Amino acid sequence: MDYEKKGSTSFSKGLLQSEELYQYVLETNVYPREPEPLKELRDITATHPRAVMATAPDAGQLIAMLLKLIDAKRTIEVGVFTGYSLLLTALTIPQDGKIIAVDMNRDAYEIGLPVIRKAGVEHKIDFIESEALPVLDNLLANPGNENSFDFAFIDADKINYWNYHERLMKLLKVGGIVVYDNTLWGGSVAMPEECTPEVMKEGRQRTMEFNKLLAADTRVGISLAPLGDGITICRRVH
Ligand code: SAH
Ligand code: CA
Repeated sequence: MDYEKKGSTSFSKGLLQSEELYQYVLETNVYPREPEPLKELRDITATHPRAVMATAPDAGQLIAMLLKLIDAKRTIEVGVFTGYSLLLTALTIPQDGKIIAVDMNRDAYEIGLPVIRKAGVEHKIDFIESEALPVLDNLLANPGNENSFDFAFIDADKINYWNYHERLMKLLKVGGIVVYDNTLWGGSVAMPEECTPEVMKEGRQRTMEFNKLLAADTRVGISLAPLGDGITICRRVH
């Protein structure tokens, strides 16, 4: 992994063996099929100082495929930022689909909102400005929400991933899917700790712990797809 290349302007979200190979995938497969509103949101987001947080378009393409495969209608999104994965979900689920979207900071969402409105999908979104854990607990306070969600995308504070997972194992239907983002943490999960850049150390540790717990969790079938920064797809099996 060549961290030198990852300056703020040239940061690649891909983990493939070369930047050229990642660009090849994006240019031949992803960008030509990316819906116009998502392109627009990606362009707007690119000027944001924290643009690198947005979901990688290649990972997004797989998420859209999963949503279609299971015909997802009721979904949860934790970590909205400017809304790339949120808009992707809203564009993919049916007209009567619903997304409960949680972010503790609404400011970035406001940047994406005009694009979401223009795309005509705002009615599918219930945005909640809050820490995510109390929102999930609140949902669980109503027994009607148990086993009722088709899909969740989790892309927020890594320290809480396992806490989110425990709640989602109750909120998702059996057969429902949760996707966790950044499960390869810039490739650092496979680096010796002493070679890991200081800023990545904590996330690396958290991610390694989470990956280990998931791998041992018999409630889910899992697949860690090395798209974007790594996404782990979990299907609730019982
Ligand atoms: N999925 C987004 C990127 C999310 S970036 C996209 O496609 O663009 C991570 C987001 O998680 C940030 O916006 C941050 O405000 C939010 N976040 C971090 N910790 C959180 C928490 N504890 N509860 C809710 N949101 C949180
Ligand atoms: Ca992410």
